[in-house]
Amino acid sequence: MKELVFGHRSPDTDAIDTAIAFSYLQNQLGYDTEAVALGEPSDETKYALNKFGYQAPRVVKIVANEVDAVMLIDHNEPQQSVADRDKVTVTHVVDHHRIMNFETKAPLFYRAEPVGCTSTIVWEMFNEKGVEIPSKLAGLMLSAIISDTLLLKSPTTTELDKKAVKALAEIAGVDYESYGLAMLKAGTNIADKSESDLIDQDAKSFELNGSTIRVAQINTVDLPEAMERKDAFLKAMQTEADAQGYDLFLVLLTDILNSNSKGLAIGSTDAQAGLEAAFDQKLQANELDLPGVVSRKKQIVPPLTSAFEK
Ligand code: MN
Ligand code: MN
Repeated sequence: MKELVFGHRSPDTDAIDTAIAFSYLQNQLGYDTEAVALGEPSDETKYALNKFGYQAPRVVKIVANEVDAVMLIDHNEPQQSVADRDKVTVTHVVDHHRIMNFETKAPLFYRAEPVGCTSTIVWEMFNEKGVEIPSKLAGLMLSAIISDTLLLKSPTTTELDKKAVKALAEIAGVDYESYGLAMLKAGTNIADKSESDLIDQDAKSFELNGSTIRVAQINTVDLPEAMERKDAFLKAMQTEADAQGYDLFLVLLTDILNSNSKGLAIGSTDAQAGLEAAFDQKLQANELDLPGVVSRKKQIVPPLTSAFEK
């Protein structure tokens, strides 16, 4: 029985590349799987796929029309997953996020580790199972780790991620620092994209104590250039928040070279107060100063969660 393997909506490089890697591993172990994606790859992901000779996975919106069972990569929360997930059986999860609102009817394989990237976990699984990693696939897995850890600089980075990067770079035959910087830069070309596309590209929704919070992240190597578009970002965020019913929409503009972020935020009075409490500062014309912040998962979601759950 065929199963589909996929990462979260608004897929990043981890969601797409690690789904391909995990699908390959599972097929070696006797499963019949296909890696698919819940959205189109970003420029960064396209750069990685292209570099190592892969096609972008087929994009699906629903899955129950073609399979009974699925494997989830790089997510577990239902609002980040496929729309009809309640209609299929989840047989495997490999993830490095908090576990939230996740329930299944049947037992499953669930592998979670607090490491920087899902590919680091899948790299361990290849080693545990004694399955050889093809050179091209090692390149994809390496790309995922570089993406999630911003070249091992994010505070989410662990010793295991560093070990995986070194091992995978060797198998792939690339210099991870120069390749990694080129890949990250490929993902920061925002000049020819609309604000509404940019705020949707790497965005996640969270339910915090009854409020729906949307947090998007846009990587840049030129923060002043990105901030010139502030008013247009705010307008696009408001349109999206009205359409989707978000109580708070926070967009992080992250300078990947200097590891700093600016936050742009709109939302209800209560939600804005929650945001201000979380970061102990007042919003100044919808703007938040976030020095040293590069990780949504480690530096944004936890303080927001504690502020909203008070
Ligand atoms: Mn991800
Ligand atoms: Mn990830």
